[in-house]
Amino acid sequence: MVHNVTFDSRTQPREAARGLEVDTAFAMASAMLRGIDLPLLRFRACARVARPGGKAMARTNGWIVALLWTVAVLLSLVGIGAYIDESVTGIDPGQRSLLLPALAIGFAVAAVMATIGWARHLRPRRPDATPASARRRFLVGAATTTGGLVAVAAAAFVRPLGWLTITAPAIQPEVPTSGPGPRTGWDGARVQAYRRLGRTGFEVSDISLGSGRIRGEVGERLAREAIDRGVNYFDTAPDYSATGSELALGRAMKGRRDKMFVATKFCTPEGHLQAGASIDQYVEVVEASLKRLQTDYVDLVHIHACDTEERLLDPNVHEAFARLKRDGKARFLGFSSHTPNLEAVADTAIDDGRFDVMMLAYHHGAWPRLASIIDRAAAQNVGVVAMKTLKGAKHRGLLDLRPEGDSYPQASFKWVLGNPSVSCLVISFFEPGHVDEYLHASGKQLTEQDLALLERYDTLVAGTHCFAHCGDCLDSCPEQLAINDVLRYRMYFEDYGDEREAMRLYARLPKHADVCIGCPAPCADACPHGVPIRQRMVGAHEMLKALA
Ligand code: SF4
Ligand code: SF4
Repeated sequence: MVHNVTFDSRTQPREAARGLEVDTAFAMASAMLRGIDLPLLRFRACARVARPGGKAMARTNGWIVALLWTVAVLLSLVGIGAYIDESVTGIDPGQRSLLLPALAIGFAVAAVMATIGWARHLRPRRPDATPASARRRFLVGAATTTGGLVAVAAAAFVRPLGWLTITAPAIQPEVPTSGPGPRTGWDGARVQAYRRLGRTGFEVSDISLGSGRIRGEVGERLAREAIDRGVNYFDTAPDYSATGSELALGRAMKGRRDKMFVATKFCTPEGHLQAGASIDQYVEVVEASLKRLQTDYVDLVHIHACDTEERLLDPNVHEAFARLKRDGKARFLGFSSHTPNLEAVADTAIDDGRFDVMMLAYHHGAWPRLASIIDRAAAQNVGVVAMKTLKGAKHRGLLDLRPEGDSYPQASFKWVLGNPSVSCLVISFFEPGHVDEYLHASGKQLTEQDLALLERYDTLVAGTHCFAHCGDCLDSCPEQLAINDVLRYRMYFEDYGDEREAMRLYARLPKHADVCIGCPAPCADACPHGVPIRQRMVGAHEMLKALA
C-alpha cells in the first residue's frame, strides 16, 4: 500500500538500510492506522526518506517519532484513560471499548521501535560529521523512550484522577458502621417516621435499607426483619453482591411487595451501562432485575454513579425508561452521583426536570454547596435520598463518648435527617444488630447530646481530618506537595489501621513531606478547617516513610 520507497544498495547503501528501518516502523504505525486515512503523513514520510543525505533523514525520522508519541499520548488520554475511568465508575466490562486502549498500546510500541531506529542513526549537527557515539545514541534513545512511556502512562491517569484522589476515599472508606456495643434500649427499634419522596408521593421510611452487602439467607432474614420493623424503601442493584442483593430482597418481599418502594439501577451484574448503550440493553437489564426481585415492576431506576452529563442525558436511557414506564415495569427515574462532577450533574438534572429522585453522598462534614443543591432539588419536588451518611472512619476511641448520648451512627443519621429537604437515608444493614441500632434513630430529633457527640467527633478529627474533596491549601505550597493525599494516607495509617497500604501509597508520591522539615511553612494559615498543615505533614512523614 504505502511502503514503496526503494534505494539502490550499491549507490546508496546507507539510505537503503535506513529506509528499511523507517519503513518497518512506519509500516507498524500505518497498520495501526488502517481505516484512518493519513495520506499526508505517508507521503511526507516516504518523500523525506527518499531524499538523499543522512541529516534530512534523521530529522524526518525525528518528526515521525514525535508524531507517533503524540498520537500514543492522545490515544492513552482518550482510550486508556477512559477505560480506567469507566472501570472505577463501575461500567459493565462488556460496555467498555478496548479499541482505543489497544490502539494506544500499538502506537506506543510503534513509537518505541521508531525511537530505536531514529536513535541508532543519530548524527551530530554537521552533515559531514561521523555518526554519534554508540553511548550517546543509546542515551538519547533510552531517554526519549522513557519520556514517551511516562507521558503515555501519565495521560492514562488524567481522566480518572478525580475518582482516584477524591471520590473513592471520600465515599468508600472502610468505615466500621456499628457502635462500639449495643444497648438494651435499642432492642426492637422500629421506624418512627416516614417522609414524602418528592414527586413520587410515596411515604418512605426515614431510615431505609441500603443493600450492597445483603446476600443469601442471612441477608434475606435481615431484610425481612427490616420490613417487619417498618422499613419500606430498598435500594439495590444488579451488581450488589453479584445479584445476591436483588435475589435476597426478592425473597424477603414476597407477599409484601405492595408495601415496598424498590429502587434498582440501570446495571448488569458486572457493572453500570454507559452512555450509548442501546435502548434494548437498558430495557433488558431492568427486566432481568424484575425477575431476580420476583416482581412485575420497580418503583425507581437510577442511573448510578452518574458523573457525566452525557450519561445523565443519554437519549437512549430516557427512551428506555419511557418504554418501561409505559409498560408498567418502572415508575420513576433517578440518578446518583459522587464527587468529581456531582455539582454539574446534579444542577443539570434538576434543571432537566425528568428526574424524580436523586441520591447523593451527604453527611455532617458535607461541603456547604451540597446543602444548597439538596434544597434546590427539594424545591423542584425531586426526592432526595442521602447515602454515605457516616463521615470518615474515626470510630476508634468513641467508646468514651457513649455515656453522653446515642451512638455515632445514630447521631449522624439524626443530623442528616435534620435537613427537611432530605427524604430518607439509605444505610447498609449487614449485621443483625444494625436493625436495632439504626432504627433506634428513626424519627428522632438531633439532641444537644448528639451535637456534642458530633462536635467531639469533629474535634477528634479537627486539626487532623483533611477533607479529601478540599484541596484549598494546595496552592500555598511552593513544593507542590499533594497535601491532601499525604494527610489521607496518614488517616489510612492512623485511623483505618491499614498501615502497609498507607506506606505503600505514600511511597508512590512524587514528593514526600520530609521537605516540610526545613520549610518556613507558607501553608500555615491556608487550611480553612484549622489543620496545622506543616505539623501534620511532618508527623505523616514520620509514620509513612518506611517504604518511601
Ligand atoms: S510546610 Fe510542607 S506543605 Fe507547608 S508549604 Fe512547606 S513544604 Fe509545603
Ligand atoms: S489540609 Fe485543610 S485546606 Fe488542605 S486539603 Fe486538607 S482540609 Fe483542605
